[in-house]
Amino acid sequence: MGSTEEIYEISTKTQEVVDDYESYVGGGFAPYPVALTHTKGSKAWDVDGKEYIDFLSMYSVVNMGHGHPKILAAAVQAMTEGAVVNLPFHSPYYGKLAKKLHDLFGYDKFVAMTSGAEAADAAVKIARKWGYISKNIPEGKCHILTAAACYHGVTLSTVSLASKKSSAFGPFVPNVGSTAPSGKVVAFGVIDDLREALEVDGERIVAFIIEPIQGSAGIVAPPKGYLKEVAALCKGHNVLFIVDEVQCGLGRAGANLCHLRDGVRPDLVVLGKALAGGMYPLSGVLGDDHIMGLLDPFEIGSTMAANPVGCAAALAALDVLVDEDLSQRSNELGDLLRSNLKAANLPHITAFNGAGLFMSLVLEDKPPKVTPRRIVSLLAQRGVLASAAGLRRIRICPPLTISKEELLKGAEVVIGVMRDIE
Ligand code: PLP
Repeated sequence: MGSTEEIYEISTKTQEVVDDYESYVGGGFAPYPVALTHTKGSKAWDVDGKEYIDFLSMYSVVNMGHGHPKILAAAVQAMTEGAVVNLPFHSPYYGKLAKKLHDLFGYDKFVAMTSGAEAADAAVKIARKWGYISKNIPEGKCHILTAAACYHGVTLSTVSLASKKSSAFGPFVPNVGSTAPSGKVVAFGVIDDLREALEVDGERIVAFIIEPIQGSAGIVAPPKGYLKEVAALCKGHNVLFIVDEVQCGLGRAGANLCHLRDGVRPDLVVLGKALAGGMYPLSGVLGDDHIMGLLDPFEIGSTMAANPVGCAAALAALDVLVDEDLSQRSNELGDLLRSNLKAANLPHITAFNGAGLFMSLVLEDKPPKVTPRRIVSLLAQRGVLASAAGLRRIRICPPLTISKEELLKGAEVVIGVMRDIE
């Protein structure tokens, strides 16, 4: 990759993979020179057969572990039935999945999509339609408020929601983002910002959308009680409260949905990533009839959305989430990992953030050699996959099915790297 931060030799086989990528992929997202060929459970292997412990879960996609046999069997079964796309007809899987989500989370309806960005985009559309009809806001005036440093995806509308974006992609979707119509910027976790924005602009704001724990910002948890206050403020101003659970949901943060840790009930819930156990792209939005019922046929949905393979995999993945008590495991193993790393009194680490196995190690500010990327490179060299998160954080998010032994083995590697680094 040519970065001075790479500190280990890359094999010829890995270099070939990286070269193809760099020569022929336009843009893309694979910043680390590790070329994986196969995975199982909490382990991964590269083109040279080197084994890694996965401390990343491909950004919370494989909460249920790589290739979980039950999820794999369900996906293969649907695929061999030949039902890869059902549009414009029915397949039994979609309705069954929507019912299971209803039974688990209590929302009336579920509409499926493929990527997290597409689902977040759908939530924006649904909220706007609700705003025009239910709040009687003049056309073009609905505002969707977000929290600064949020991440909801790479489509034009989800990029528009973000506070930091490349101006080369503009003009952006208007009336969305962390700046309220009157100019108030809403920081994540700062309830007074939201209160002020809603007091001034509550008539025009139709929804406040947040990640219960911000993922791409660096796994940043808000202060205790924040979500409860958000829910109350939104209700008081007749503003929809939308949570994006794409990264923090489905057991990752120690609850089947992260916001359930705070005992709140948002109006819309955005799901993605681990929904189909990482076996197939599937995302979607949960909501009640009084909101979802405003949608007309064909307003939401795309060719591959709710494909039977994804829905079958999701049915199995949700079973695994519940049957293997993965949220509880996330809490217990998260506590174990945190106390293990804390006890090691690691240099350069000033704090731990997140919840359960949705964790970040927060690095001190200064030393230029202690960059997240360098640490991640050293971890990979020693057989642990992790990634940088935000500007000075390391993301530690193993599959929730990881064994205690593997978790502690990975923790030893983290401890060794942090101790050896200058
Ligand atoms: N929302 C959140 C909170 C995310 O973390 C992500 C991806 O990281 C997305 C949405 C976008 O999901 P996708 O990459 O599947 O479009």
